[in-house]
Amino acid sequence: MIVVMKPGSTQQQIEHVIKLVREMGLKDHVIVGTERTVVACIGNDRFKDKSVMETVDGVEKVVPILAPYKMASREVKKERSIIPLRAGSTGTVGGKRVGVIAGPCSVESKQQTLEIAHAVKEAGAIALRGGAFKPRTNPYSFQGLAEEGLKILARAREETGLAVVTEVMSIDQVQLVCEYSDVLQVGARNMQNFNLLNAVGAQSKPVLLKRGMSATLEEFLLAAEYIMSRGNTQVMLCERGIRTYEEYVRNTLALAAVPELHRVSHLPVVVDPSQGTGKSYLVDSMCRAAVAAGCDGLIIEVHNDPEHAMTDGAQSITPKQFAEMMSSIRRIAQAVDREV
Ligand code: PEP
Ligand code: MN
Repeated sequence: MIVVMKPGSTQQQIEHVIKLVREMGLKDHVIVGTERTVVACIGNDRFKDKSVMETVDGVEKVVPILAPYKMASREVKKERSIIPLRAGSTGTVGGKRVGVIAGPCSVESKQQTLEIAHAVKEAGAIALRGGAFKPRTNPYSFQGLAEEGLKILARAREETGLAVVTEVMSIDQVQLVCEYSDVLQVGARNMQNFNLLNAVGAQSKPVLLKRGMSATLEEFLLAAEYIMSRGNTQVMLCERGIRTYEEYVRNTLALAAVPELHRVSHLPVVVDPSQGTGKSYLVDSMCRAAVAAGCDGLIIEVHNDPEHAMTDGAQSITPKQFAEMMSSIRRIAQAVDREV
């Protein structure tokens, strides 16, 4: 449930409500809005007596939250969340500007990463992506450069000012990845690794949560809820395609997820047309479609030599194609009252 305070309610009244919430065995999450404050009560409140709360001083009403996810839901927070990717930088995801994250699938070498980082920065990206820990289907495939890769990403940030987005695959990597990166990516294969979700939920870095390839939107939002309920409310939802019977693409990019997630959640939605199609020649059109559908961000694989990429070359676009795509989405953004 959420306890909606009256406009002008005092701090003391709010604190009293928090105390009562805790006495009920629930966790409180206070959201201070422009007009009024609401106290979201987190936990299983099905058997709690809501009517008591309604008579407390300063309380306007008590509203049950119908969605099983609470903190991620729009019932708790009407305004859209805006997530700064890096302290002190202007790059945000969730505001008027569509934030573009771009870079190689994997960090392969210093030279490759720096070259791509400079190129995507030049074309208007706000963050650099690149995997140092790679979740690979085949155990004999390239697994990523691990800490060496993280160091290269940090170097690229130093040179370009771009925020760094990189995947963390397991709990024991969380501290290390936090040291070097700005945004923690939780991959599709880990969307329901609840222990990992709890671990990134205990960090203060924003999280880019990828949708599991067979996850429903409700499961996706409940995964976000795991992170948020641990205290980290800076979650970006990333639609990266789901597995279907279709074979002309690697995954089927479910773009209707963008407006649907916006309808039920205040969290920003990022689209990954690279994993979402698996084909470099489909990326440009899907970027335009995603912006038209209202996405808050894009994450795109860019490689300076896709033919020789160590991972995901077939879906990687070149820096030149990336720059062309950026200018084409700028026009789409303008048509839907956004910016890039
Ligand atoms: C990736 O971004 O390279 C990646 C592995 O993504 P996903 O987890 O969506 O498959
Ligand atoms: Mn990839």
